[in-house]
Amino acid sequence: MRIAIRMDDITPDMDWSKFNRFKALLDEADIKPLIGVVPDNKDEKLSCQEPREDFWNYVKELQQKGWTVAMHGFNHLYTTKDPGLFPIGEKSEFAGLPYIKQDEMIREGSRILKEKGIYTDIFMAPSHSFDKNTLRALNNNGFYRVTDGFGIAPFKMQDIVFYPISVRKSKSLADTRDGIVTFVYHANTMDDKDFAKLKDLLDSGKAVSYMEFRDYDVENRGTMGQFSQYVLAKSKYLAVKARKYLR
Ligand SMILES: [Zn+2]
Repeated sequence: MRIAIRMDDITPDMDWSKFNRFKALLDEADIKPLIGVVPDNKDEKLSCQEPREDFWNYVKELQQKGWTVAMHGFNHLYTTKDPGLFPIGEKSEFAGLPYIKQDEMIREGSRILKEKGIYTDIFMAPSHSFDKNTLRALNNNGFYRVTDGFGIAPFKMQDIVFYPISVRKSKSLADTRDGIVTFVYHANTMDDKDFAKLKDLLDSGKAVSYMEFRDYDVENRGTMGQFSQYVLAKSKYLAVKARKYLR
């Protein structure tokens, strides 16, 4: 199994020492991750220090160096308790809100990113939570890829390509099949032990740059109905484990 890396909760006022520690390990291994940038963060829990003034230029610079950028929600505020189609979280910024509202939030998030010079068609939902209306609103605003879902290769539904994530890192590491999954990291809350595990992963040679998802054929999984059923069945089994890793 190849392991792609995703870093959530990228904001101007995140914990830069943790971010830099993470980045140094990636650079050493020559691995380029996916980073989830919040267009207009209002979640105080993500605010760790004074905002970095050249933040947006820095993100652009990383993107030019081959890092992949996703839009991570809009304000990163949890407004509903609807877990959505991929129910491994218990709260959402989007799922359960009317289509019109979701469309507005996604359009505004995208507008802010473009204004800062950041272009992306990848969406990263806070708490992995989105519903059919979120996907419709994403389609309507030029987002065609989502970092979420179960599997070991990209798959397509409702005109969106999903790049699967792993909710059990040890299981994915032991998996000998030929596939690719994403490991999810929140550098803000990582401790020494978490960094040691990341280093082990990078030393193992199993980690790859996020852009390597492109090497895989996209499997067509049909309708959302099938997806919901599949995810519900699977998530009952995985939910407890997942909540440990995915915030
Ligand atoms: Zn987040």
